[in-house]
Amino acid sequence: MSDSEFALIDRYFHRPARSAVLGVGDDAALIAPTPGCELAISVDMLVSGTHFFADVPPRALGHKTLAVNLSDMAAMGAHPRWALLAGALPGVDAEWLSAFAEGFWSLADKHGVELVGGDTTRGPLNLCVTILGEAPAGEALRRSGAQVGDDIWVSGPLGTAALAVAHKRGRVALPAEALRASESALLWPQPRIALGEALRTVATAAIDLSDGLVGDLGHVLAASRVGGAEIDLAAMPASPALMSLLKGEQRALALECLLAGGDDYELCFSAPPSRRSRVDAIGHGLGLSLARIGVVRATGGLAVLDESGQAMASLPRAYDHFES
Ligand SMILES: [Mg+2]
Repeated sequence: MSDSEFALIDRYFHRPARSAVLGVGDDAALIAPTPGCELAISVDMLVSGTHFFADVPPRALGHKTLAVNLSDMAAMGAHPRWALLAGALPGVDAEWLSAFAEGFWSLADKHGVELVGGDTTRGPLNLCVTILGEAPAGEALRRSGAQVGDDIWVSGPLGTAALAVAHKRGRVALPAEALRASESALLWPQPRIALGEALRTVATAAIDLSDGLVGDLGHVLAASRVGGAEIDLAAMPASPALMSLLKGEQRALALECLLAGGDDYELCFSAPPSRRSRVDAIGHGLGLSLARIGVVRATGGLAVLDESGQAMASLPRAYDHFES
């Protein structure tokens, strides 16, 4: 890239260091972690056509690029502190950059995240954020702590984002209001940071739902070395549009969105039944409708019970790509 292109990128992304000892501008940033805390570190890459539609509005893309990483911090019960942003851009367009930066910074500022480094190169649109967060030593949430008998909870409606993808791909025609709500879930996911932090001493395991409940809960069960889980379909929270599809001719699509749809970025966590009132109080305090959707079992794999209490014969696992 040319000097003027780098200068333009600098204009939108270079801010003076706040909590970092040394921010952008040297060969590396310097940070001083809070004494008594462990660092949680994660990286996520978003590729055009795989993780988002090529025509996504740049402000939403800026938001989502950071949101998916913040969601990993939420899943760990970590408080996000610092981020690094690397990207390949097909060209340097001031209007696009400005909108992208606006989406990125409004979410970063909301959570007090400081950008401490980055890199840019020319290439097919591809964005990569590394995030660093903190949790008191020994308190970070993991996937591996679920116990047989634990309740399984989710932090909000599932399948909403996947429904927008299904609409975009012509698999379903949503009415205007349902489309607006679904697109908002797809483009503007809200990472459950405060919930993750509140769950540190309450949940036994947690994960953020990026790839769909069946796959992601499967990771928790495997990491926790438990033999199964029973999910109650009727207890699963879903948008009104998805609920009505579930009762109609497009039930199969609705089930696919609900059980295997990605991009919701809600948290799925386990906690012993003795902590139900604590979980409810946390949800109440944060204005979230936390839903208890099932229970961890010793055996039997992942079973989903339908509305009549029968285990579904097969579970959708499809992954819908964003290629247009
Ligand atoms: Mg994750």
